[in-house]
Amino acid sequence: MKSTSSRTLLEQSKLKYSRQRESLLDILKEQSVPITIDQLDEIVKQRNLSINLSTIYRILDAFQKHDMIEKTFNVPTQSYVIELKHAHHRHYLICLDCKKMIPINHCPMHEIIEQIEKEQDFHVSAHQLDIYGYCSDCIKNH
Ligand SMILES: [Zn+2]
Ligand SMILES: [Zn+2]
Repeated sequence: MKSTSSRTLLEQSKLKYSRQRESLLDILKEQSVPITIDQLDEIVKQRNLSINLSTIYRILDAFQKHDMIEKTFNVPTQSYVIELKHAHHRHYLICLDCKKMIPINHCPMHEIIEQIEKEQDFHVSAHQLDIYGYCSDCIKNH
């Protein structure tokens, strides 16, 4: 699957191009699950990108204002995780033991939301759903 280049993503989001912004977007695009800012910082260091932490925060702020990333609170690790916004939003199974996040591909909320809107006369514009438990590896090791 060919994905949009980071440069194009910046253009589409009306953000000015910079090498640092492009590098961070490249990293976020490679992730299959959300990562913490510490993890992002680690990858930046591994690649010798010389973007300091306060710059990372500033760039992420800009990404968030331009609706390019999603930031959610991860309960087992008690930290915020970020990911690029996908055309189709994702939900995750989160292992309470190894903290692994496993994406689930369909949204189980759609039917429920339709029902809520009908019953409560309420327009739902967004929702969040994380499912906690134990992954197969952790179950095996117990
Ligand atoms: Zn696990
Ligand atoms: Zn959903």
